[in-house]
Amino acid sequence: MALVNTKKMFEMAYKNGYAIGAFNVNNMEITQGIVSAVTEEKAPLILQISRGARSYASMSYLKAIIDVAVKDNPDIPICMNLDHGDTFETCKQCVDDGFTSVMIDASHSSFAENIKITKQVVDYAHDHGVVVEAELGQLGGIEEDIVGVSADDVAKHLTDPDQVVEFAEKTGCDSLAVAIGTSHGAYKFKVAPKLAFDVLESVTKKLPGFPLVMHGSSSVLKEFKDLINKYGGDMPDAMGVPEDAITEASKLSVCKVNIDTDLRMALTAKIRQVFCESPAEFDPRKYLGPGREAIKEMVRHKLQILGCAGKAAECV
Ligand SMILES: [Zn+2]
Repeated sequence: MALVNTKKMFEMAYKNGYAIGAFNVNNMEITQGIVSAVTEEKAPLILQISRGARSYASMSYLKAIIDVAVKDNPDIPICMNLDHGDTFETCKQCVDDGFTSVMIDASHSSFAENIKITKQVVDYAHDHGVVVEAELGQLGGIEEDIVGVSADDVAKHLTDPDQVVEFAEKTGCDSLAVAIGTSHGAYKFKVAPKLAFDVLESVTKKLPGFPLVMHGSSSVLKEFKDLINKYGGDMPDAMGVPEDAITEASKLSVCKVNIDTDLRMALTAKIRQVFCESPAEFDPRKYLGPGREAIKEMVRHKLQILGCAGKAAECV
């Protein structure tokens, strides 16, 4: 099977009450860790590439790695999504590069401008069989060059349910990233957050059957935070979205959950552990290998949290 878009995945995820994991990739080991997890768990998969990943690894390398993952795993539906496209030109380039899904994030613009840019991307993408994720409302935190609102202001920038119908109708987007209190990065909150399930429910009532997306949804797992801090790291205040809230949202209209920080922390924790326990080690395979294995086990766990383990076949 070639790369797929998210249409069938989201249809089944919505209908059967689970969400698809959307994991960010930057290199071969991260991709292999994620793909071996979904293969073992027989889960559908969205691999995401940010603009930062494109400039770090180059699109041709990342696409070649993903093409191998697709070819080697014919039973797993895999979508390649652009994470946080900022302009029409970036999204167009990604459609031309073979992405099967692009996100246009014009959420920092005015409502009218967000509609205009999103519609322009939708028109081009749909002509090429590519689906489009848009964003309404503003997330908190910082991820690469995506700077959101401050932690104290997250609640003031939630998605306005009164805007969603007009936005979806005027743009024709295929899914919508909503701001319901999640936040990018490893330092999302000072105290354990409560997601705005009331906003999620209102949006769902206004747009029944429409797939929603949660960004900034890493949980900052204690296991990896503790390893990082034990082995010379300094992330004492890191805090993420509780996993039970992610499971609850996945059972509702959230069909895609973005996870990046948890991948970074799993890889970093293992590498730190190897460096501290085996300071004479200098073979990259001896630390990248365990890092890749940590990513795999973490992703397997996430697939259970999202409820998408075992769902690959029905998403084909
Ligand atoms: Zn995001």
